[in-house]
Amino acid sequence: MTDCVFCKIVSGEIPSKRVYEDDQVIVINDLNPGAPVHVLVIPKEHTENILTASPEILVHVKKVLPEIVKKLGIAEKGFRVVVNTGVEGGQTVPHLHFHILGGKELGWPPC
Ligand code: 5GP
Ligand code: ZN
Repeated sequence: MTDCVFCKIVSGEIPSKRVYEDDQVIVINDLNPGAPVHVLVIPKEHTENILTASPEILVHVKKVLPEIVKKLGIAEKGFRVVVNTGVEGGQTVPHLHFHILGGKELGWPPC
């Protein structure tokens, strides 16, 4: 997608420091962190949201999640995975991404 900010980050057109990368996803720090640890797991292949995503990419994210949260140092104390979807779900970037938040006790509900 030529006009997608996350596709531009994936392609390197917009430079980013990658906390983790494999053949299917990159993980970067969120530009406006909402917690001491706040990263985005971004699939390399463009898809709009969790409804349009292939089951395979969801399975892949689950497979690599333990390694990512261990690397971030939040595996033991806990963390939150968020997938905002659509307008009322608060999604602002229409390229599927998983927020991983941690590093403090997070409040609930998030509204
Ligand atoms: P959403 O609101 O779609 O669930 O989440 C989009 C997230 O992407 C937001 O938390 C926002 O701060 C982050 N974001 C938007 N543009 C950029 C960018 O260019 N670089 C990085 N690292 N994060 C971005
Ligand atoms: Zn995209």
